[in-house]
Amino acid sequence: MAGRLTNIIESFAAFTAMLGRSLERLVQRLRTDGWMSARVCLKCTMANARVRFANRFGTADRVECPYCGWQGHDFLTIDCGSFTVPTAECPHCRGHERHRMLHLYLERRHSGLSSEKGYALHFAPERQVRDMIIRNADLRILSTDYAFDAISRFPRPGIQADMQQLPFTDDSMDWMFCLHVLEHVPDDRRGIAELHRVLRPGGTAFIMVPLMMGWEKTVEFDAPDPNQFDHVRGYSPNDFDERLAPFNYDKVMPLSFLSEDEIQRFRIPHDSQVIYRCTK
Ligand SMILES: [Zn+2]
Repeated sequence: MAGRLTNIIESFAAFTAMLGRSLERLVQRLRTDGWMSARVCLKCTMANARVRFANRFGTADRVECPYCGWQGHDFLTIDCGSFTVPTAECPHCRGHERHRMLHLYLERRHSGLSSEKGYALHFAPERQVRDMIIRNADLRILSTDYAFDAISRFPRPGIQADMQQLPFTDDSMDWMFCLHVLEHVPDDRRGIAELHRVLRPGGTAFIMVPLMMGWEKTVEFDAPDPNQFDHVRGYSPNDFDERLAPFNYDKVMPLSFLSEDEIQRFRIPHDSQVIYRCTK
């Protein structure tokens, strides 16, 4: 009885603390970005309050994060500034759909990576992707990003570099992991040409980008959009592929290696998550 009461009090304390933080965030958004942005923030906060409640008291194993093993009722909604992405973020490891999908793909289709030697170039390093490379391969990992802060949090070697002008020799990398980076690169075609130049023949580059479902064409923004994580463009699923022309590539869709039940359990959208497996 006492344990249950403590549990309820702890939940209530956590809820009120979260409410305070959410209100603070909401007021900040209203001041800096206006009512529309604050509305998105409010929608996201309410959705996540419901999910957190259900994760605490609802079905314990309805969904699962294959990267960290967390199970619960549902994943959290992400606030993207001008819109939200529901059931996207793992409450435990903060991994997103792209991490879950790549993890499962590497585990199921690239288990041979574990016997590979060589160099893996990891753009805009994320803990979830780095762990996948370490788990799956005996590779020397080079982290790279335009911003020093982004690489300083990870073990060396880290190389501060502009993707449009990479400081690596031709054909020098065996593997590349480039997830949600190209939408930040001013001249992404030049960036892709650099990826192609640096990848060795027979090597593989895994590329993923956020696809704006429903957008007929890719749209270039005038400046980095603070309401979309400073993206400089929004990629349409209809024409992104054309940019990968320098490579040979497979378009890996979730249903090509996961069952419908697994897609529901791991909460990976059917169409918006695509792994471009590029070779040279
Ligand atoms: Zn997780």
